[in-house]
Amino acid sequence: MPGIGEIFDSVAGSVAELFTGEPSVQRAEVVSLSDVHPGARNGSVLTVQEALEKAVGLDYSSAPGTFGPRTKEAYAKWQRHLGYTGSAADGVPGRTSLKKLGAEYGFKVREGDGGSTGGRVGSPVPGHGVNYAYGVPNARYQTGYHTGDDYAAPERTPVVAVRNGTVKWSDARGGAYGNWIGLQADNGRVYVYCHLSWRDVHPGQKVKAGQRLGRVGSTGNVTGPHLHFEDHPAGPFRYGHDRKPAW
Ligand SMILES: [Zn+2]
Repeated sequence: MPGIGEIFDSVAGSVAELFTGEPSVQRAEVVSLSDVHPGARNGSVLTVQEALEKAVGLDYSSAPGTFGPRTKEAYAKWQRHLGYTGSAADGVPGRTSLKKLGAEYGFKVREGDGGSTGGRVGSPVPGHGVNYAYGVPNARYQTGYHTGDDYAAPERTPVVAVRNGTVKWSDARGGAYGNWIGLQADNGRVYVYCHLSWRDVHPGQKVKAGQRLGRVGSTGNVTGPHLHFEDHPAGPFRYGHDRKPAW
């Protein structure tokens, strides 16, 4: 749990960001996908905000150039406008939705950052969907609810990086999670892959969205082979600090 000091620091930091008159952000003519994510502050974000103002009525006057909650909600609106649903409309830009926004509202998206397979993939277990969802009340867990999404699949089915990122850990020391991998993704989140039978990657390794990280298994505390997939904030892994997986 964060201490009062930490909470105070983070509130103070946000207030400072609004009022200390940091140099203003210059709009980018060409937007980089890797620059446009929640928490970012740069010219690419400003360009995207200008487009979102026209597309869905975003008012970004309180934080031009900063990708905060309002910008995220506006981007989710844009994704829904494109017909995306569920975790595909989470307000985190992907290559396709960003290019469509640029095509309609007059900016280019830089090629060559984000990888040839695109900014993210549809499922951490390609071809498989969620069979047991995040948040279902379950007394088996200390939290009292299911802390991730489960993807049931046969042993040795490939699991892949949902976004570009860097492998934070990859080891057999997950305890109830068995063989596990933490992926520090380019949107600032850490995605946790559990119960693996096989790991292909090592800590510090850079990976692209869609790249294989390992294979489905039944290591740790399980009743059958599946991927248990969690979504955490950056920083050391802390049990229960999860959210509904989205990427
Ligand atoms: Zn699970």
